[in-house]
Amino acid sequence: MTEWLDVAAQVEALEDLPLDEGLVAEMQRRGREAATLADINFYTPTFKSFQTSEISGCGRNAWPAVSITGGDCKLQCDHCKAKILEPMIAARTPEALWQVVTGIIAGGAGGMLLTGGSNHRNEVEYDAFYPVIRRIKDTYPGFRIAVHTALAGPQAARAMADAGIDVAMMDVIGAQDTITQVYHLRRNVADFERTLESLVATGMKVVPHIVIGLHYGRLLGEWTALEIIARHRPAALVLVVVMPFYAPAHRPFVTPDAGETGRFFMQARAALPDIPLLLGCARPGGQTRTLIDTYAVMAGMNGMAHPSEGVVELAARLERRVRVTPACCSIAVGDEVMAVAGKDAGLELDLDAIVRQERERRRGTLGGIRVSGGGCCGTGDPA
Ligand code: SF4
Repeated sequence: MTEWLDVAAQVEALEDLPLDEGLVAEMQRRGREAATLADINFYTPTFKSFQTSEISGCGRNAWPAVSITGGDCKLQCDHCKAKILEPMIAARTPEALWQVVTGIIAGGAGGMLLTGGSNHRNEVEYDAFYPVIRRIKDTYPGFRIAVHTALAGPQAARAMADAGIDVAMMDVIGAQDTITQVYHLRRNVADFERTLESLVATGMKVVPHIVIGLHYGRLLGEWTALEIIARHRPAALVLVVVMPFYAPAHRPFVTPDAGETGRFFMQARAALPDIPLLLGCARPGGQTRTLIDTYAVMAGMNGMAHPSEGVVELAARLERRVRVTPACCSIAVGDEVMAVAGKDAGLELDLDAIVRQERERRRGTLGGIRVSGGGCCGTGDPA
C-alpha cells in the first residue's frame, strides 16, 4: 500500500514540500479507517477548460458582497481594522439596498453576501433592513442571500429567518482572551454559543466559521469553538486561516503554523464526521498555503476554495472523488454554503484530466510569472 507521503511526492508541485511525517501518517491511518473517503469539491477559476455555460468564470458579480455600513465598523478588530469592508458595495439604507440588489440582479448576480461593520457589541444592525430583504426575496425568490450575522439573540435570529435569509454565517470564537484583546469586545464565549443556538433553532441553513490563528496567529480558542459547533450541528463548517494584513505594528500576528493548522483540520474532521467541512479562501500564501491545502485534503475536508497548485491532483491520487467548480471565491462563498456537495456541486474529474490540466497550468507559468488563472477575491471574514 502506497504511503501518502510517497503519493504527495508523485505530484510535481508538491514533491519538495516539507510535510510533517508524523501528521501525514496519522491522517493516513484515520483516512484508511474511514469506510469511504469523502468527495471533495474545489472552487477554482484555474480549471477554466472545464467551464460550462451555466458556470461563469471568475465572476465577481455573481455573488457580490454588500455592506450595510459601507466601510464603517466600530469594533476595529486587530486583524481587520474594518479593511475587509472597504471593497464591498455600500448600501447604507434600505432604499439603497433595494437599488443595489436590483442593479446586481440585472448584472447577472445569483445571490449576495450581506454584511456590515459591527457596533460595540459585535452586532450588525440589520433591523431597518428586514422589510426590504423580505421584499427582495418575495420579488426574486431565486436570489440567494447569505448574511454574516455577527452576534444575534433569538429575536434577531427569528427576524432574519422571517425576512427569508437563506444562509446565516458567523464566526465562533472560543477564547475569552481573543474576544477581549483581538476584538476589544465586552462579550463572552457563551454569547457566541447562544447566537449559534438561536440561529440553528430557526431552521435557516447555518454555516459558522472558525478563524484559525485568530489570537495573534496562535491557536487558542479553536478547540472550544469546535466543541460549541459540535453541540449545535449546523449545516456545514467553514475553516479559514487568519490573514492579518492590517494588524497594527504594536500588535503583530505571526503566520499560523501549517502543521498545527493541519492537526486542527484532522481534529475538526473527527469531531464533526458527518458535517461538511470547507476550507474558505482566506489563508496565508506561499509554502504555508500549499502545506495547509495538502493537510486539508489529507484530513478529509469536503471542499476548498482556490486550491494551491498540485492539490487537486493529490486528492485524485488519494482516490477522493474530485469535483471542480470553475469559479472564484465570490461564487464559492455562496455555493460552498448553499450547495455543499449537493446536486449543484461541480464537475467530476478523473486523474488523467486533472494531470493534463495541471501540466497546462505549469506551462502557463513563465519565469515565476503566472500567466493564467490565479485568484481574484478579497479575503478575510467580516464582522
Ligand atoms: S472583523 Fe468584522 S467586526 Fe472586526 S473590524 Fe473587521 S468588519 Fe469590524
